[in-house]
Amino acid sequence: MKLLFEKDVPGSNAFRFPMDDLPPATENIPHDQLRSAPVDLPELSEVEAVRHFVELSHRAFGVDDGTYALGSCTMKYSPKVNQWAAQLPGFADIHPNCVQPGADHLMCELQEMLADLTGMDAFTLQPAAGAHGELTGMMIIHAYLRDQGQNDRKVVLIPDSAHGTNPASAVMAGFTVRVVKSGPDGLVDLDDLAAKCGPDVAGLMLTNPNTLGLFEKNILEISRLVHDCGGLLYYDGANLNAIVGVARPGDMGFDVVHVNLHKTFSTPHGGGGPGAGPVGVKQFLRPYLPYPTIRRGDDGQIVFDADEEKSIGKVKSFFGNFGVCLKAYAYIKSVGYEGLKNAAQLAVLNANYLRCRLSEYFDIPFNTLCKHEFVASNLRQAPSGVRTLDIAKRLIDFKYHPPTIYFPMIVHEAMMFEPTETESKSRLDALAEAMKQIAREAETTPELVQGAPHNTVIGRPDETKAARNPVLSYKKPAQ
Ligand SMILES: *Cc1c(COP(=O)(O)O)cnc(C)c1O
Repeated sequence: MKLLFEKDVPGSNAFRFPMDDLPPATENIPHDQLRSAPVDLPELSEVEAVRHFVELSHRAFGVDDGTYALGSCTMKYSPKVNQWAAQLPGFADIHPNCVQPGADHLMCELQEMLADLTGMDAFTLQPAAGAHGELTGMMIIHAYLRDQGQNDRKVVLIPDSAHGTNPASAVMAGFTVRVVKSGPDGLVDLDDLAAKCGPDVAGLMLTNPNTLGLFEKNILEISRLVHDCGGLLYYDGANLNAIVGVARPGDMGFDVVHVNLHKTFSTPHGGGGPGAGPVGVKQFLRPYLPYPTIRRGDDGQIVFDADEEKSIGKVKSFFGNFGVCLKAYAYIKSVGYEGLKNAAQLAVLNANYLRCRLSEYFDIPFNTLCKHEFVASNLRQAPSGVRTLDIAKRLIDFKYHPPTIYFPMIVHEAMMFEPTETESKSRLDALAEAMKQIAREAETTPELVQGAPHNTVIGRPDETKAARNPVLSYKKPAQ
């Protein structure tokens, strides 16, 4: 497909400005700062510009196209009413610096609902994503420990099943990482955890249910071990879809949490955004939240506090990604707490249904009752040389977004499925049938799977080149 620049037809135009009768602005700009040549932008007619972008959009795949069981990412359907709410002119047109009555109440109420749902005392909506929330949370723990004169607590414990952003965030906040092993049941190994707790420990970062989709049933014991050695508990609640409305991290002993609004609380995401990763804390950590904090005053008015002395400072301009917060607010309000609970229960039911169906054809390393997701592997297909990457690529030919692959790292050749509550039984059956056929192909015609995808514009791009060697600007070929 040609780039816009290559479709350039000089003289064509997709817009028409109204006549302007003002003096040319160039009169007021110093001459040495004026361009000598016009900007080199492609010129296209409206119809060609529209076709270009529509063609691009047809190459993408989103939840509105079909099942998107991308484990850990909760790619669930986002009801269109959320988008409608976010686009109301009263919200969409406000200046981000001008907090209007209404917008401030909405932010405050969203914080209160998140606090309710997670069992925390205060929230900030500033962080723009899950990883950003983790960094914010770890900075809060860092600031608190420093305030307590506990500067020697430099180690953050992280299980080997953790999301890669956890160690990255801990290190960026100034800590070092000590890995805690998982036991044969896929859960945190309590003996290993106990051995690794000590006076140098700042805290533990934990995802529960963990990235294998298993609930850490010893969470109260884990929490006791970490607190007893003087550390704090950080909850990676990026994906709360299995427990929202059912169980609360605050009750499990966590001191700091982040939640990804763009996962559990609907709002479509992908390709890097947009998102929001609000952070919640227990009362004793409230002064360290990014400022301004938003709370309800005694008279019901919304108060913006700036305890700049203890606060870790601002972590995002304005008040965070307001539009995403608005969609999450609309989602929570439209389904209610009962609806959230129902969604969590259905997400767990769907994951278990798909797990049972797939276990006929694929190895499932921890094949027990899971929460919102489960991990399979290519063990049964490996003898014919078919790898997880091949299976994932072949699934694209069946018009499914592949599962998350090669994560978590503790499972060899992992395939992580998270169907979410918004997929119907017939959709799950169809996905299971596609996987069954791929399993059969792996036995009979492995090269068909290894050469997939066969029906896409782009087959197998270099997995790392785009990240390591991105080409972000267009250079006109020499004439
Ligand atoms: C998605 C996810 C993150 C990171 O969230 P981003 O918004 O992508 O930065 C962190 N932890 C877990 C468990 C996740 O699933």
